[in-house]
Amino acid sequence: MKDIRKAAIETQTVHAGIGEYEFGAVVPPIYQTSTFKFENVAHGADLFAGRGDGYIYTRMRNPTIEAMEDAIAVLEGGAKGLGCGSGMAAIHTAFAATLKAGDHVVSSESVYGPTSTLLKTVMSNFGIESSMVDTSDLDAVSAAMRPNTRVVYVETPGNPTLVMSDLRAIADIAHKAGAVLIVDNTFMGPVMQRPIELGADVVIHSLTKSLNGHADVVGGIIIVKDEDMYPHFRKTLNQIGGVIDPFNSFLVHRGLKTLALRVERASENALKVASFLEAHPKIDWVRYPGLPSHPQYEIGQKQMSGGGMMISFELSGGIEAGKTLMDNVHLSLLAVSLGGVESLIQHPASMTHASMGKEQREQAKITDGLVRLSVGIEHVDDIIEDLADALEKC
Ligand SMILES: *Cc1c(COP(=O)(O)O)cnc(C)c1O
Repeated sequence: MKDIRKAAIETQTVHAGIGEYEFGAVVPPIYQTSTFKFENVAHGADLFAGRGDGYIYTRMRNPTIEAMEDAIAVLEGGAKGLGCGSGMAAIHTAFAATLKAGDHVVSSESVYGPTSTLLKTVMSNFGIESSMVDTSDLDAVSAAMRPNTRVVYVETPGNPTLVMSDLRAIADIAHKAGAVLIVDNTFMGPVMQRPIELGADVVIHSLTKSLNGHADVVGGIIIVKDEDMYPHFRKTLNQIGGVIDPFNSFLVHRGLKTLALRVERASENALKVASFLEAHPKIDWVRYPGLPSHPQYEIGQKQMSGGGMMISFELSGGIEAGKTLMDNVHLSLLAVSLGGVESLIQHPASMTHASMGKEQREQAKITDGLVRLSVGIEHVDDIIEDLADALEKC
């Protein structure tokens, strides 16, 4: 076959990271082993000295994990991937590899909650400062840059309002200041948005979401743009130790094969669901990157090839309507997480952010009637009918 890196993404999802295996197996075997024996002392010494191409210990390297890492590196157009035990492990490792005490981070304010907490607690305890800004506003990004800014961290579309940020423009701002751009691409995934092509240096994914796509794995990955960044990132991950295991890597690699089909169908469904919600009298507003009503619709059109599967909307009836909707949907599952084959629905004000208090919630743009929906690959008519029936009661 021609160079997999030049193939279309649908071809890459099926074939990337697949090699030749014993017995002509067409998928990578699961090397569920913690350690690898050496042929003799000289062989062990060579491997530890970095000579030759063999395996030592699964925290350092494992062929099943590597196959998955190679596949996602190809999909994202990066040099190398580093499989991690969760999305948060990937984010922590990426920060640890790029920052030291006294450095400063400019981050999207609308990032995944635990990412913001990681910056404000763990990283801050280690002497790393951060500024949370609205990265859809390029002037705000420029204004937040300091001489010691080493990392610009962006999530687009961001949580929970699906605000979008212009990656190419932010990459320019970061690079002019000598900082690296790290992008959390979990919401869109490589089929619809490839941040490295837009100037990012590092891409992060929670593999737990659409890349695995079947709600049965917790995992993460870091993709580095350049080969020369890789050894330092690998050493950092090796020392922190937050690696993924071979079986989960196998499952993610298996999930990847249908990634393009899944996200295209989910995105098609999501556009129809979003249009239905936008026309519904009990809903104040809908945010979906594929709807022209989205405030950054043009940015989305420029850097994404679809709207994705995530929708946010505001129920006119506030908290009570949110609870009623949650208790009356039957097809969409009442659960956190996103990007899987099944539709998932969540009402932050009464669940994940209930303990936060209204004032703090409003600051984080978590309004009382805000609902987050991850649209799955069920038949769209069934998803809409389920929502319509539940909305009747709100
Ligand atoms: C879920 C998620 C994470 C964290 O991933 P885990 O696998 O749960 O650790 C990070 N970023 C985004 C955007 C997410 O949705």
